Amino acid sequence: MDGSEIKQLAIVSGKGGTGKTTIAAAFAALAKDKVMVDCDVDAADLHLLLRPKILTQEKYFGGKRPHVDLEQCTQCGLCAEVCRFNAIDNGVVNSISCEGCGFCSHICPEEAITMREAFSGDWFVSETPYGPFIHARLGIGEENSGKLVTVVRKKAMEVAQERGLELILIDGPPGIGCPVTASLTGVNLVLAITEPTLSGIHDLERILKLSDHFKIPSMVCVNKFDINLGNTAKIASHCKKNGSRLIGEIPYEPRVVEALVQGKTVMDYPCNEVQGVVHRMWKEVEDSLKVKKCLNTKSFVTG
Ligand code: SF4
Ligand code: SF4
Repeated sequence: MDGSEIKQLAIVSGKGGTGKTTIAAAFAALAKDKVMVDCDVDAADLHLLLRPKILTQEKYFGGKRPHVDLEQCTQCGLCAEVCRFNAIDNGVVNSISCEGCGFCSHICPEEAITMREAFSGDWFVSETPYGPFIHARLGIGEENSGKLVTVVRKKAMEVAQERGLELILIDGPPGIGCPVTASLTGVNLVLAITEPTLSGIHDLERILKLSDHFKIPSMVCVNKFDINLGNTAKIASHCKKNGSRLIGEIPYEPRVVEALVQGKTVMDYPCNEVQGVVHRMWKEVEDSLKVKKCLNTKSFVTG
């Protein structure tokens, strides 16, 4: 399949904890013929619900770290003086604090410091009961996640092309920083998940502005809409004003958390009301993306 025929949906939120991964996992259970990608590489958790069986594992070298030739080092202390992250002391590097800026390598009078590619994490191609899944694990203290997001998205596109799958389902990172930008580039549709709180509204406005900036159509889902109906109404009116469609209002339902605790998607756990909204949302997404009707025929756990 040609890359331009493959549709990409990014599920995002202005901040963590809004239920983004819950929706992504529910869509994974509903949609057929897709590749799933966890682009929330800083705090990946979609794998907890998709139960992946790892097929391949690759190392990711995302940044550079100073390597000091201690035989050349005269212990002059200059590197410690200039490093604003206190990450080097007389040639001894603390790789957790080091930001890889390379300043020390430029100022070392003995030219004892060279910047070398550093191992930053792993990424995986896995098989799940819902289809292929590309995900990653960043090393402790690593922050080069924008680049890693690009790596996993590229792999997802390759897998979709190889297997003739017409959809890439992206669980995006929270916020509006570099990893989010890397997750949105080239997608066909953004689904923003929010909650009816003042900070939720603020974060939603920022994420919708970002998708507008990239000229990507956006849809919105309010999770736990009934905890504050006034704020839900504000979100609805903001969507109307800004040309984003509010396609789902999910009620507060303690069984959603029970499903998560048991490592199940909400489609595999008895939460009828939530399943109904997610189903309707998926139909809207499917129509908007103009993918062939690909609702999974598997029967879901109801109750
Ligand atoms: S600046 Fe160079 S020579 Fe001086 S302590 Fe650091 S590594 Fe050693
Ligand atoms: S690369 Fe930058 S952050 Fe790392 S030790 Fe050198 S000066 Fe400090």
